[in-house]
Amino acid sequence: MPPPPARSGSPTLPGQTAATPDPQGNGAAVAGGSPAGHPAPDTSSDSPSTRRSFKPQYWALWRRPKAFIAFLLVAELAAVAWFVLVFVDMTAPTRLDLLRFAILTAGATVHIQMTRRQEERRRNRVRTVLIDLTAVWVFPAAIILPAPLTIGLVLLIRVQHWFVARRPAHNFVFSSITHMLAATVAHRVFVALGGQQWMSLTALSSLGEFAKLLLVGLVYEAVQILYVGSILSLSGKSKPTIRSVLGSKADNLLEAITIGLGAVTAILLVILPPTVAIMAVVTVVFNRLAELDQLQDDVRTDPKTQVYNMRGWTESAERALARAAKSDDNLGILMIDLDHFKWINDTYGHPAGDDVLRNLAQLLDEVTRPADVVGRFGGEEFLVLLPDADQAAATGAAERIRSSVARLRIATTDKRGDQITVSDRTASIGVAVFPDHGDSLEKLMHAADAAVYEAKEGGRNQVRLAEHRAHHGATTTH
Ligand code: GH3
Ligand code: MG
Ligand code: MG
Repeated sequence: MPPPPARSGSPTLPGQTAATPDPQGNGAAVAGGSPAGHPAPDTSSDSPSTRRSFKPQYWALWRRPKAFIAFLLVAELAAVAWFVLVFVDMTAPTRLDLLRFAILTAGATVHIQMTRRQEERRRNRVRTVLIDLTAVWVFPAAIILPAPLTIGLVLLIRVQHWFVARRPAHNFVFSSITHMLAATVAHRVFVALGGQQWMSLTALSSLGEFAKLLLVGLVYEAVQILYVGSILSLSGKSKPTIRSVLGSKADNLLEAITIGLGAVTAILLVILPPTVAIMAVVTVVFNRLAELDQLQDDVRTDPKTQVYNMRGWTESAERALARAAKSDDNLGILMIDLDHFKWINDTYGHPAGDDVLRNLAQLLDEVTRPADVVGRFGGEEFLVLLPDADQAAATGAAERIRSSVARLRIATTDKRGDQITVSDRTASIGVAVFPDHGDSLEKLMHAADAAVYEAKEGGRNQVRLAEHRAHHGATTTH
């Protein structure tokens, strides 16, 4: 069962990340453009503060923890010193080097320009796909080209990215440096291993070359993970987890595939340069496929609250119910209806109402267990599926939710745009349990809904357990 889409830290599909909406538009983490597929921020709006944030004095960077700023600057200075060394060591590129550089630049440009629209769409999302296939072009450069040309290629790629998807400048600089660092370190390792000898291969030596490519690919990815990961662990946003620092399995898999494609590009470039055109097509198609994954995920997500919509929740719930039936387990369903929600809209306006819904969804996500599934039924009604919960456990969970809602304080704005805090909200919650109140999802939801009605009748702000399954519901007349 896939985790609910909004659960923070849940694995998402390859190359995508559930970025938290960032009201300041300044990005939630530093790794914009996330080289190793790390959770990257997205400045999803074109608010004035986003535009302002390009000026150094407005950078979100300065609002970060001191240790973070210090580490970031030291890391960047160290990287720049390393680049200086690279340039000092430089020998003049040959004409072949320049030709290969031109081919890779052309391929990368086709790739970036053909996926422009997609990148722009990405910027307008709250949850974003993070598809950075740059390694398809940078990795071969790292292997084949002299390091300064690789740095030049990264610059040309990044400048184009900048125009497609602007991000806070310090994020952008940091992730550009990460690409360069990974590429030049990988280059040094490859050269130290003897460089490429692909024109005169025997069966055995080709195995050796393959092993070399694998090793250098690992180095390339490891540099990015370490460099970005150490920054993320200091970002102070939330407690660093292995996943937030190292990136999810899916993210890293996508990056590994991309590096693999980069290795293929390198081989084509050396053996049969015109075939690199095929890689340009492959990357464009690959980009689109990765977006498809995101769209599939979107179909199951409520855009306003980022929890499952009915389609996603029902799919999850049906699977959980089938499992519970098979293993004779219980399963609880909560239907949660905010009390007098219309009053919030009427009093403070619909945007305030929306903020309340978003906060409620987040609260449900936080107070439930990882295996529980939160969904938006519609309007101001939410559903929570509780695998393995009997009547006592489900009622207990509902009671916890009810009291958390009562304590909820939501900062928002009223109709005039003034800051207000919405508090003292309550919810009526209906609880139904499998198999006690029904053996199908439909019956359970009916039972939970009827229990909500009872809770409303009983004076709201309360939890009601569904009536025991009445047998007349099962009789049919012929
Ligand atoms: P009760 O305690 O009986 O549940 O009263 P209520 O006001 O919560 O319930 P009612 O069904 O009368 O009103 C629900 C309101 O929710 C009406 C509708 O305008 C509002 N609503 C539905 N969807 C949204 C939404 O996405 N955003 C906002 N802001 N309001 C919504
Ligand atoms: Mg309602
Ligand atoms: Mg209501």
